[in-house]
Amino acid sequence: MKREPITSSSSTSDRYERILSDLRARSLLREIRTIEEVDGPEVIVDGQRFINFASNDYLGLSQHPFLKTAAQEAIERFGVGAGASRLVTGSLSLHKKLEQELATFKGTESALLFGSGYAAAIGTLCSLLGPGDIILLDKLVHACIIDGAKLSGAIIRVFPHNNIEKLKEHLAWARKNHPDKKPLIATESVFSMDGDLANLPAIVQLKNEFEALLFVDEAHATGVVGPKGTGLVDALGLTGEVDIQMGTLSKAIGVSGGFICGSNPLVQLLVNRARSLIYSTSSPPALAAAASASLQILQSDLGDQLRTRLWQNIGLLSKRLEIEGIYSRSPESAIIPVLVGAEERSLRLVEVLLENGFLIPAIRYPTVARGSARIRIALSAAHFSEQIEALATVINGWH
Ligand code: PMP
Repeated sequence: MKREPITSSSSTSDRYERILSDLRARSLLREIRTIEEVDGPEVIVDGQRFINFASNDYLGLSQHPFLKTAAQEAIERFGVGAGASRLVTGSLSLHKKLEQELATFKGTESALLFGSGYAAAIGTLCSLLGPGDIILLDKLVHACIIDGAKLSGAIIRVFPHNNIEKLKEHLAWARKNHPDKKPLIATESVFSMDGDLANLPAIVQLKNEFEALLFVDEAHATGVVGPKGTGLVDALGLTGEVDIQMGTLSKAIGVSGGFICGSNPLVQLLVNRARSLIYSTSSPPALAAAASASLQILQSDLGDQLRTRLWQNIGLLSKRLEIEGIYSRSPESAIIPVLVGAEERSLRLVEVLLENGFLIPAIRYPTVARGSARIRIALSAAHFSEQIEALATVINGWH
């Protein structure tokens, strides 16, 4: 559907109201809900306590004392804000240290921090691609990849989700019609709204066959998938095959910020070209310090224990959600979508969940296709099994 433009007429606020009431009528209105307090996996909203099944804090590390202390010490030493962009005077030893740790963690030569995962994606794609270049996207990639592709001005071809045959057709088309260009394939490893995995071995095979480049967003795999939580690329032994690994510090790492891992020349190119890095203040010292502490936990025995607990929780919920049509494949990540269909129906389920003490927002168009609304359950190592059992009982009963 085409978006109604906001023109500068005298009745601008009427127009705003009209657009908003139209969204409400179609069950597509979004509103910000404010959390007043956080208590492990529980939150207080409007004075009421809910179990939070919507956070991407998969290991519960955002609340960990080790991260909090690291952040506090960094504030004492460097202050609260970084003061400038990386290329001016905002590059602190904490940023450099974290970049080295991220590169080691992901098994790449270099890493580069950005203010967010979103900024990392758009800055990187716009640095690597321009008009006349070709980018091939899985239909379900995150908005930051779509927006980066659009902003770059490159020719965009979309292949149906995980459809390797169609990707091959696009690659053959690109090679035939633009033989002087290396097409760039962009995918997530764990898909954010479906929780399933990309077929990375098959994609890598095609990438090599057609001499393409490969960009993999590991936002939801980092910390969760693979030995020590390094992600799917490393778990499959494909690090050397992926040109650009993207990640965020905001999910299992429990902090905030984005990063790119790859070769040193790639990182140096981004330092010189990525506008979302060059023209944006670098991340606060406390975040860099907390992320370093988090990486230390991810690779420790505690990290192993948290991942074991998380995967136990994932197994428990998927076993309990046994009504057909709710969840029919075995889970591959901490994201378990309960497909509902109509947008209006997803809002009703959200209400039922709230009444029963569970906080899980509906995911609707345009985040997912029209008519494929869902609630997206995000599990954490911090959830207790009783909380998961209780959630499954409500969802099974509702369906
Ligand atoms: N990629 C994916 C797959 C995501 O789900 C998200 C966050 N929703 C991002 C990138 C963006 O990361 P950030 O929140 O750090 O901007």
